[in-house]
Amino acid sequence: MQGFNKYYPPDFDPDKHGSLNSYRGKHALGDRARKLDQGILITRFELPFNIWCGHCDAHVGMGVRYNAEKRKIGNYYSTPIYAFRCKCHLCGGWFELQTDPKNTRYVVTEGARQKDEDWDPEENGGFAVHDTDKVGAPVDPLAALEKSTDAQNHMTKVQLPRLEELQSFSEQRSADPYALSVRVRKRFREQKKVDKQLQAEDDALKGRYGLPETLSLVRDDEESKKAAKEEWERAKHQEELSAKAKRRRIGAAVGSLPASVSSGSRIAKRQGSSSTPAVSSLRARILENTARHSGSSTLKPRR
Ligand SMILES: [Zn+2]
Repeated sequence: MQGFNKYYPPDFDPDKHGSLNSYRGKHALGDRARKLDQGILITRFELPFNIWCGHCDAHVGMGVRYNAEKRKIGNYYSTPIYAFRCKCHLCGGWFELQTDPKNTRYVVTEGARQKDEDWDPEENGGFAVHDTDKVGAPVDPLAALEKSTDAQNHMTKVQLPRLEELQSFSEQRSADPYALSVRVRKRFREQKKVDKQLQAEDDALKGRYGLPETLSLVRDDEESKKAAKEEWERAKHQEELSAKAKRRRIGAAVGSLPASVSSGSRIAKRQGSSSTPAVSSLRARILENTARHSGSSTLKPRR
């Protein structure tokens, strides 16, 4: 038995013994520490729930206390997991409970059955509690290998070169900011002069022909000149053609006039009533002349 009182025997030597317990060769926890060399400490343990003993099948109520052999059996992260081995007070059979730090509860591991009286929120109109880190289906090792190989290939063939490219590009750009700035500003100054000159030319042209300010002009270069020339020639050709056609039409009308005088009035009618008096008088004179002319000579109608 460990020393309870403060009596120090005459042969007690603090340098030699250190404490009264060691003087008597006892542990401070006394008999409870008798299995300490096996890693077992005997503690008082109270059943946290109702159980049925697996040996005598008797119901053992919550709160019954046992001298349980407590030992550490593992860790959940840094939290130790303890097992409590108890001897049934009715039959002497052993049963064991463990702590379950993950779910903050106790579980019966052998020698007994727990009476299932846990509060089930789902059953009682609450929200279900789901296991968040559920262990998934066992992975196919070949599929996993293939996946990791693909990822590695992608890394070496696509991502790394791209990264290097980006890095060299960035280095190139940020190598000498002063030189780059000088270059940019120099170019901008030159371009500004050219732009100003062009703007002045445009403004002068617009002023000369009274063109609107908002009109954007095409730059004056070889290509635009060529295009303008082509357009000019095409329009000119068109103009000539239409003029020729008009002349032929008039000629035809005039040539067919002697056959019937009414055609002249038809032309007059066709030319529209909007013609001015000067024009109609001119037309009348031409018709008169041609009528006289056709009477003496043989003017063939032109087609
Ligand atoms: Zn029992």
